[in-house]
Amino acid sequence: MVQININNLLSSYDLNDLTIATVCSHSSLQLFHGAKKEGFKTLGIAVGESRRKFYDAFPLAKPDEFLMVDNYKDILSHTDELKEKNVIVIPHGSFVEYLGAETFLTLDLPTFGNRQVLNWESDRNQERVWLEGAGLTMPKEIKDPHFIESPVIVKYHGAKGGKGFFIAKSFEEFKRRIDKKKTYTIQEFVLGTRYYLHYFYSPIQNNGYKLDKGNLQLLSMDRRDETTIDEVQRLGSIAELEEVGIHPTFVVTGNIPIVLRESLLPKVFSMGERVVQESLKLFGGIIGSFCLETVVTEHLEFKVFEISARIVAGTNPYISGSPYADYIQPNLSTGRRIAQEIKYAAKHDLLTEILS
Ligand code: ATP
Repeated sequence: MVQININNLLSSYDLNDLTIATVCSHSSLQLFHGAKKEGFKTLGIAVGESRRKFYDAFPLAKPDEFLMVDNYKDILSHTDELKEKNVIVIPHGSFVEYLGAETFLTLDLPTFGNRQVLNWESDRNQERVWLEGAGLTMPKEIKDPHFIESPVIVKYHGAKGGKGFFIAKSFEEFKRRIDKKKTYTIQEFVLGTRYYLHYFYSPIQNNGYKLDKGNLQLLSMDRRDETTIDEVQRLGSIAELEEVGIHPTFVVTGNIPIVLRESLLPKVFSMGERVVQESLKLFGGIIGSFCLETVVTEHLEFKVFEISARIVAGTNPYISGSPYADYIQPNLSTGRRIAQEIKYAAKHDLLTEILS
């Protein structure tokens, strides 16, 4: 396996002429928009010429140049060319998915954040070790489907965006619906309201909400719009629909801006803080943006069912700030915050602290 040495990678870079690059999808409009605001050059990596035309529709978020590839793995054959442009790559969910985790881990380009986080985030067991180690409450896991006594959600491993997930209320229902060819996890279905919390952890800045090392910001939060679970009741109750073979699904189609009861915000910071502290112990720290995906129960308890360890698409409604980011700086998006972190690190010779 290729060992990435960030010092070597940066040794040929002109730090006054950096280019921010990402794959043209997911949150790329926001990332390019934010990077341009901070004065960076931008480069979009895309498959297919039609992408170029699409970005013409949004001049303020259009990358300065494109790298057109036949498929995403072809990025590997362009790394020398990208290094000459002093490219720093910003990963997002689609970037990692299109490239494949293994290729992403060995991509020979300076990458924002700590790539080691993938080993903890992509394996649901490791993720539980991390989050429960941080003292967060996760939904109970049901090891044996015979013991399903209340509603559960069944999640297939590696299924992105909730694809194929289903709810079961008994072992019989589980047996009827399960695809045994796939590996899965069974979790207690937590009843409550969902909040997807968007944090930013900087190991190199010491203002604001301070941690032992660095600081933590809450930039925004969203609720995912998931089809068909969020709309199915237009047709009848879930029970009625299931009788005729219509089962709700959890595929994300969009994101809705939201704010949380203000009295719950201290808990939000405490959860974020503990997740960061534990990550520093386990693998050198989660750096930059991350999202805790939570359900708040009627007892006002947070249950965290997942962590996303990079910018999430739920930040896209907030390109001009959010009800939280506005208390930090006007017009601060997560994309812009990432660009600011890179700019600050380049200026203070700290890039190796935030890139991998
Ligand atoms: P992504 O990687 O895009 O975040 P995923 O495929 O890993 O998605 P999850 O985020 O774990 O899937 O779950 C998908 C959706 O299922 C959630 O957005 C939420 O609506 C619902 N969900 C997940 N876990 C639970 C739970 N324990 N209780 C209630 N609903 C849940």
